[in-house]
Amino acid sequence: MNLEQMRAFADEIEATPLNVLMNQASGAMRAALLKCLDYGELTPEEGLLVYTAEGADLRAVIKAADLARAEDIGEEVTYVVNRNINFTNICFVGCQFCGFKRQKWESDAYDHADETILAKVADAIARGATEISMQGGINPDMPAFKYRDLLAAIKTRFPRIHVHAFSPMEIMYGARRARMEYREYIAMLRDAGLGSIPGTAAEILDDSVREILSHKKVDVAAWVEIITTAHELGVPTTSTIMYGHIESPRQVVNHLDLIRAIQKRTGGFTEFVPLRFIHENTVLYRKGLVRPADLGFPDFRMYAFARLFLRGLIDNIQTSWVKLGVDFAAVTLKTGCNDFSGTLMEESITAQAGGTAGEFVPVDLIEEQARAAGRVAVERSTLYKKLYGRKAPNGARPIAPQPLPADHHAGGGSGCG
Ligand code: SF4
Repeated sequence: MNLEQMRAFADEIEATPLNVLMNQASGAMRAALLKCLDYGELTPEEGLLVYTAEGADLRAVIKAADLARAEDIGEEVTYVVNRNINFTNICFVGCQFCGFKRQKWESDAYDHADETILAKVADAIARGATEISMQGGINPDMPAFKYRDLLAAIKTRFPRIHVHAFSPMEIMYGARRARMEYREYIAMLRDAGLGSIPGTAAEILDDSVREILSHKKVDVAAWVEIITTAHELGVPTTSTIMYGHIESPRQVVNHLDLIRAIQKRTGGFTEFVPLRFIHENTVLYRKGLVRPADLGFPDFRMYAFARLFLRGLIDNIQTSWVKLGVDFAAVTLKTGCNDFSGTLMEESITAQAGGTAGEFVPVDLIEEQARAAGRVAVERSTLYKKLYGRKAPNGARPIAPQPLPADHHAGGGSGCG
């Protein structure tokens, strides 16, 4: 499917009344969707039916997801003005889906000094950022309290910036290096200025899949423990899934069922972000273990399913322009998404895995895409406070043309983040 076909497909569903699409769907699908539209919670079996929908069933699923989005969250398309900082690409973990990591002896390995990071934060704030999003590789030479000290350095100089940082994998590693329990370690980071945690390193929350993707990575029990502990300590997190590699539909449904169960317990997730697997520069692809799927139906299915399965628990379903490209991400606004992610300003992880979406999207472009979808773009904070009337300076475009830093790569990716 090319972009025009994907757009036409979504537009046609948008223009067709629900009852017409429902009448064309199977009886089982109709029953599941009507239950969901009536605020009933889908069972995992119904979730599987929705996630594997094809043909007329898929059209009805997308319509129901779009209606649920309109009812629950309205017509606003939110985004955050943020800057991504991948502070090191040195990593010993060796995830099979990662094109970002480097060994420290490789010529393009880097580990930014604090001063470099602080200069990037200062630049981001000058360009209107309210959030710094930071993740990096798992560096074997990292000082024991690096994450805490980096946070303290940023928050001392820039007390108002929201720092969204350190995946559960980094929290696990940091806690080990500091010889602290997760609770004690996360509380220490919170007190040093950590505002929220990315719910990345989740990939698929199934240990049999994780063993193949990365046997050194944080396992399901540790991921859940870190996330729930953060929530209990008042540190919200996002939630994610990486789809389109070796996972089965059942594992996807179980993943969302687990996210849903955590949210019922803690209420600490701010959003759910489906992240398409970017295959090009990854071991998984080179070994022939994955066959990349075309953009289109798999993504529509994932976003619509997430909207419906998480209904009533997680309202914000975020599309990922880094993984999908800006134009296609805008199409997914019609299949259940309400959030357009962030401006990023710099992104290396997806870029290094072969993503080609670029590293920065200006506010003007997000506004234009939202308008084209018949919606209105609204800037938000990391924690979804609407910042009505605010407009980042110069549309959050670079203030002046700047030379690219040595680690700056155009593209997208599946990494720690
Ligand atoms: S995904 Fe993260 S932990 Fe895994 S190899 Fe890449 S940088 Fe390292």
